[in-house]
Amino acid sequence: VKYEQIHLEALLREVLGFLGREAQYRNVTIDMDIHDDLTAIEADKGQLQQVFLNIINNAMAAVADGGRIAIAAGLDDARHVAVTVSDDGVGIPPEDLKRIFEPFFSTKGERGTGLGLSITYGIVRKLGGRIEVSSAPGEGTTFKIVLPLKQDGD
Ligand code: ADP
Ligand code: MG
Repeated sequence: VKYEQIHLEALLREVLGFLGREAQYRNVTIDMDIHDDLTAIEADKGQLQQVFLNIINNAMAAVADGGRIAIAAGLDDARHVAVTVSDDGVGIPPEDLKRIFEPFFSTKGERGTGLGLSITYGIVRKLGGRIEVSSAPGEGTTFKIVLPLKQDGD
């Protein structure tokens, strides 16, 4: 994969474009908080779209109609950006939390493949980043994706 400079705000807005119709239809509020220090990062555009589409899609599936998703992006430290995606949805029980990144783990029955988060995890790890998740059943879930600004070896 050839990496290029990706403008994260533009990419997040593109991804939200795919979900805007459903959000509107279901009256889901999506807030975006882009910090001034957010910079471009080296990554593959298609892969990065997949990462955020998977995470935000899951948030969308977790919230009730009229629910809320909040996205924030900015520098995490001098060499990394962080994107957090929070939802006020169903949450993830502790026993499931250990398994959500496993391929084929899904609680969605026929409607889920269980592949989204395992693919997302693989992409983020390959870029040298990490994913943190915290969740409270009945209250909501926050995913934090941390990615390095630069890829070494190029
Ligand atoms: P799928 O969406 O096809 O089920 P994923 O790998 O994307 O597969 O997610 C695995 C599981 O993790 C989901 O089935 C769901 O149980 C849980 N999950 C992921 N994100 C959220 C979220 N934001 N809120 C609640 N549960 C979630
Ligand atoms: Mg999914």
